[in-house]
Amino acid sequence: MNGLRHLVTRGAAPLLSRRAVNGVLATRKSHTVETGAPLTHFTDEETMLRDTVRKLATEKIAPLVKKMDEEEKIDAGVLQSLFDNGLMGIEVPDEYGGTGASFFSSMLVVEELSRIDASVAAACDVHNTLVVNLMAQLGNEEQKKKYLPRLSQDMVGSFCLSEPLAGSDAFSLKTEAKKDGDHFVINGSKMWITNSDVAGVFLVMANADPSLVKFFQDNAVLIINVSNFQGYRGITCFIVDREMPGVSVAPKEKKLGIRASGTCMVHFDNVRVSKANEKSCDTLNLLKIFL
Ligand SMILES: Cc1cc2nc3c(=O)[nH]c(=O)nc-3n(C[C@H](O)[C@H](O)[C@H](O)COP(=O)(O)OP(=O)(O)OC[C@H]3O[C@@H](n4cnc5c(N)ncnc54)[C@H](O)[C@@H]3O)c2cc1C
Repeated sequence: MNGLRHLVTRGAAPLLSRRAVNGVLATRKSHTVETGAPLTHFTDEETMLRDTVRKLATEKIAPLVKKMDEEEKIDAGVLQSLFDNGLMGIEVPDEYGGTGASFFSSMLVVEELSRIDASVAAACDVHNTLVVNLMAQLGNEEQKKKYLPRLSQDMVGSFCLSEPLAGSDAFSLKTEAKKDGDHFVINGSKMWITNSDVAGVFLVMANADPSLVKFFQDNAVLIINVSNFQGYRGITCFIVDREMPGVSVAPKEKKLGIRASGTCMVHFDNVRVSKANEKSCDTLNLLKIFL
């Protein structure tokens, strides 16, 4: 089959033009928002998108589901086909090399993948809706230019929030990012991190000012915009590249289900990330998030 990438964009001989693609994939904006149609009613383009991903999942992924489950690993070819077909940068704007579609399109894609393999769906979902969207919505221009094309085309991302003692109560996370001149030094461990076995970049929630935890507890008020680099209770998000010294990924957890999806602990041991610095943009990082 011709992949979604061809359907929507940029192969040498795309089936549809870019304009048509945006018409196909960004259609939810004009469909539901403008027409007020129910979510259960798909436009022709959305139906086409759903059918295209269904075909990809049935033909390319389904034959490998058992093998991937037994090997506890997503087949590299399957992962590549997600990239090749534009399914790893679904909402990434066109100018950053993505598909330029809507959140609704992401949901259609994840739903179709889930029909065949929940592990592949989880990988695609976490990558698109947590990592890529956070980067696209909150990253600065330099960060977006550096990471979004890679995330859309060949680099998997992980979202690192949970810790051994901070699950539902994510605000209690203990990972710290201590300021050290023009750098932050990150120390802590993250648990249950999807895609961490293969990720090239990690979005790491860490506390850049633990004193604010007490401040917020004492004052019991949500104060947003405490300062430029402090999120809620001091928690901020850092972009950490896999190859940075001090980053280590533990062996995969043995799970009962969605076993092909890599879920590991990730340790950050004195990982130095620099502040956004025009010269070494392979470091910081600050996406300000207010959890
Ligand atoms: C397969 C898998 C992949 C994951 N991938 C990621 C990832 O990519 N990135 C990431 O950051 N995290 C990830 N997680 C972690 C996930 O987000 C946490 O497991 C989740 O936040 C729950 O935390 P916990 O497991 O510590 O459970 P707990 O917080 O200990 O909760 C246990 C139970 O108690 C309930 N509970 C908790 N607090 C309350 C309360 N106040 N009142 C009533 N009930 C309560 C919960 O609903 C739950 O049923 C993943 C987890 C799994 C299993």
